[in-house]
Formats: sequence, structure tokens, C-alpha cells
Amino acid sequence: MFKKISLTLILSIYAFGFDYNLKPQKVSEDIWCFFGKTEVPSKENGGFMSNSCYIKADNSYVLIDSGTNYQFASQAYDAMKKINNLKVSTVIITHEHDDHWMGNSFYKDKFNAKIYAPKSINQNYTSESKPRIFEILDEKEMKNTKIIKADVVVDSETEIKVGNKNFKIIPMQEKAHTSNDLIIYLPNQKVMFSGDIVMNGRITSNRDGSVIGTLKSLEVINSYDWDTLIAGHGTNTGKTALDHTKNYFSLLKTRVLDAIESGVTADDITKTVTMDDFKHIDMFDELNSRNVFDAFRELEFYEEN
Ligand SMILES: [Zn+2]
Repeated sequence: MFKKISLTLILSIYAFGFDYNLKPQKVSEDIWCFFGKTEVPSKENGGFMSNSCYIKADNSYVLIDSGTNYQFASQAYDAMKKINNLKVSTVIITHEHDDHWMGNSFYKDKFNAKIYAPKSINQNYTSESKPRIFEILDEKEMKNTKIIKADVVVDSETEIKVGNKNFKIIPMQEKAHTSNDLIIYLPNQKVMFSGDIVMNGRITSNRDGSVIGTLKSLEVINSYDWDTLIAGHGTNTGKTALDHTKNYFSLLKTRVLDAIESGVTADDITKTVTMDDFKHIDMFDELNSRNVFDAFRELEFYEEN
């Protein structure tokens, strides 16, 4: 008897790899999210550190960002199936960072879902690409995870209707979090999906982004009438959801520009602009200095117009 149980346990660990222990949170009528940890991707969190959300649209689900790998996506779907036993017809990806779209392979395999994504995904990846998550997790944990690119590249504002839900997919006009970010707006629900242009509860990673572009894109996001905003990372979805990001980038811009003005050089910028008022926020130690340094490089020749 005991032998039988342990064999089942071993087999199930082998079959499922990592147990993400996923619990969907309802954020608005017909919308549920899996909120990732405010941490760097690791063996311990299985790479689950970004948000992935399901929208019930009559007789199918629409998904915003498919998560870190096939297994994560499969376990997220199992949890959602218990709420509504529906297929996933449509997947919309906000940007090219791997934590947001390596789950595409599950939705393609299982449902042949139609995938909308920015053009950077189709341009910058091939079926041979191995983004960083393949280095962090082992082969078993990454089982079945393949590069599945967009069926529809969204290069200009696009409106789609799935079941009873309308979606506006809006590409940002300039580099913000990446060179090519999409935001998704549901006008009837007054819900905004900002991708990683907004994060809360953690410090952002601006390595592929722009301080000026992010601040402009935050204005664009704010110009829509939303009651709920779902960030790429972080669990605050209320009216104050973007305040943290706006505050961080505004202060980063002002402080780095002031330092440049008073003659601080690249070598000293991270000692001068310390952003200590954000020290208590998750991922400060991992990301803040790099953000300050990159901001210096970006703003060195900046002229306000
Ligand atoms: Zn992200």
C-alpha cells in the first residue's frame, strides 16, 4: 500500500515537474488573474513572477500574457477550467520578455488559440531561440515549451470582438518598457492591461526600456477611462495601480537630470542618485542601480522640449 502511494507520488512529480500551486484571483466581472511573485525568476518560483489573466468572453476565454512556460500555462488552465469549463480562443501578449509568453505553446497545442503580439516577438525570435528561462529551469520543467510567435502582429491600434467582449489593442508609439509594447483596453468593463509599462510592489527593470518613453506611455494609459488596471507585475489593480511606477520614473528623471546638470559623471551617478526612498520596495537591490545608470546614459544628451 505504502509502496503504491510513493510510486504514484514519484510518477506525478515526474509528470508535472513543478507544482505552481496556482489560485486565480477575481479582479473584475469575468476577469481572473494569476499574480506572479515580485522576485527575479528562479528555480524556487518556477519562473512565475509575472501576471497572466483570463477574461471570460461568452463561450471562450481570452488570455492576456501566457506566463513563463508550458507547465505554468497548463496548470493555470486547469485552475480556470474549474471556474468555467471553456476553451481558450485568443491569447494577447503585451511584450517580448519571456516571462510573458513562453506559455503560448500550451494554448497553441491544446486549443490552436489565435495569438496577437507585438512585432518584436516575430522579428527577434526563431524556433531555436532559448530565452533566459531555459537557463534557469531544467529540461523537465521546460518540457513542451516552444517558441510560438504571433498569428497576428499588432502594429497599429486594433479592435477585436470575442464573444461579448470588445478589446482595443494599442501599440505604444515609442520605446517604453521595451521597443514594442502593447496595452489592452476593455472599454465596456473600463479595464486596462498595461503590460510591464506599469509594475507595482516591486522596482521595475528598465534594461530594455526608456525613462522618457515610459513617462509618455503612462500618460497614454492615463488618458483612457479605467477603474481597474492590471500591471505586468504586482497585485494593486485599483485607481492607484500606476502611481508607484509614475513616481519612480518621475523622480529618476528629475534626479538624474539634476545630477548631470551639476557635473556628475557616469562613474559616480549611482552613488549620487541613490533613490533611497524606494529602498523598502521589492527588488530594489537587484535593479535600482542599473536603472539609475541606464537613465544616465539615456538622459546624458536629453533636451526638454
Ligand atoms: Zn515582465
